[in-house]
Amino acid sequence: MITLSLIKSIFKIKSEEKSLSEVSLEKLTETMKTCIACQLHKDRTQVVPGIYGPKNGLCLIGEAPGYNEDLKGQPFIGRSGKLLDKMLNNVGLVRGKNLSILNVVKCRPTIDGSNRTPTASELKFCGEKWLTKQLQILKPKLLVTLGGISLKFFFPKASVTRSAGTIMVSTDGYPIFSTFHPAYLLRNGRPELYEKYESHFKEITDIMNKDSSTISEIAPLEPAKPKSQKKLTDFFEK
Ligand code: SF4
Repeated sequence: MITLSLIKSIFKIKSEEKSLSEVSLEKLTETMKTCIACQLHKDRTQVVPGIYGPKNGLCLIGEAPGYNEDLKGQPFIGRSGKLLDKMLNNVGLVRGKNLSILNVVKCRPTIDGSNRTPTASELKFCGEKWLTKQLQILKPKLLVTLGGISLKFFFPKASVTRSAGTIMVSTDGYPIFSTFHPAYLLRNGRPELYEKYESHFKEITDIMNKDSSTISEIAPLEPAKPKSQKKLTDFFEK
């Protein structure tokens, strides 16, 4: 059974992470930019570390840079990035100002010169090497995974179609709101999908506007949100 003391103890462990407390994001990013720890460095133009917003804030997580991101050195450029910015701006969110955007994988995965999806081992290797350290410094109040690939870094067996719009808790104690990758909307384009996407960003803003410090406050177990309730309960009963 989920208990309040269990919830509080998980948050306490998270808040007591000291391993990177003396390392600044700037220093970490400078080191990241010279990384050649895996084969992906061979085809990249540059490492794409992400865009940083305030600590203890909102953090969006994508999968990996594509062609445009690799050229510009920033995440979510091009049509997907424009759609994402529109959704964010609609609810008063601006990248770098009140949210961070990071990718799990920092270098562009390619096949025959085209973009490709990062493999599970690339996600795990680069994600554990850099993203986890970025998150330890940023200490986000809420993570939002954009699409199924970044979701799988935190929950390898999860499916975005089943979990979109719900909050789950990662093994590191991060509350994670799952939603779609903007490219998925551009490919499918159904009006009801856009409405659902808009409602997700509204919900994310509502969560961020709450003055909360515990999982139970961030993701209240309300009868009106049976899916969220189920996911949280599932996590704590494992
Ligand atoms: S993908 Fe990640 S681990 Fe691999 S070279 Fe790039 S930054 Fe380093």
